[in-house]
Amino acid sequence: MSHKVVLASNNAGKLREFSAILGTAGIDMVPQGQLGVSEAEEPFATFVENALAKARHASRQTGLPAMADDSGLCVNALGGSPGVYSARYAALNGGEKSDAANNQQLISALKGQADRSGFYVAVLVYLRSADDPTPVIAEGRWAGEIVDAPRGSSGFGYDPHFFIPSLGKTVAELAPAQKNAISHRAQALRRLLSALQPDTAGATKR
Ligand code: IMP
Repeated sequence: MSHKVVLASNNAGKLREFSAILGTAGIDMVPQGQLGVSEAEEPFATFVENALAKARHASRQTGLPAMADDSGLCVNALGGSPGVYSARYAALNGGEKSDAANNQQLISALKGQADRSGFYVAVLVYLRSADDPTPVIAEGRWAGEIVDAPRGSSGFGYDPHFFIPSLGKTVAELAPAQKNAISHRAQALRRLLSALQPDTAGATKR
């Protein structure tokens, strides 16, 4: 049996990765844009609060269970920035809201920095209804290093500058299937799906 769930995201890169990872999980994931859901505010300082706000907003507007992710890049030498502001990093510093501008902002912020370490993080929240008092929450992390020169054309966001030492490649140089097997988003989604098993098997009714 397939469960219809609204996915509270309009980011094309994320939607592509979610549907590839979800594959045959028995969940019919419908992007919120297809259901006319407006963009939610993301006013909070933590990933989990923003993901919860996005999921609750989508569930409230559709009456469906909802899944949301809030994700970003945390760079150690920058005290965890751009963090929850990853999508708006350049825009918050007077630039435009684009991957290219964000990447440029990141490289200039790290100028002269020896410590290039950081991690991608994805926090997923699943709500059975807008007022679900027990949201299912899962997190995934993927460590890497920021490189000045972009490499590769796959993926999205900071991928051309996010280098995985054990693979000798930036994430933008990985095949989509390879990224989707090991990424922060894939790790979080696997954890979420396993936590959701009682629900998707019909054992939990609310
Ligand atoms: P959100 O839509 O508020 O969760 O913002 C996520 C932002 O974090 C994206 O716009 C990217 O800038 C960054 N990000 C998250 N996941 C990835 C990834 O897998 N690759 C590259 N950038 C990512």
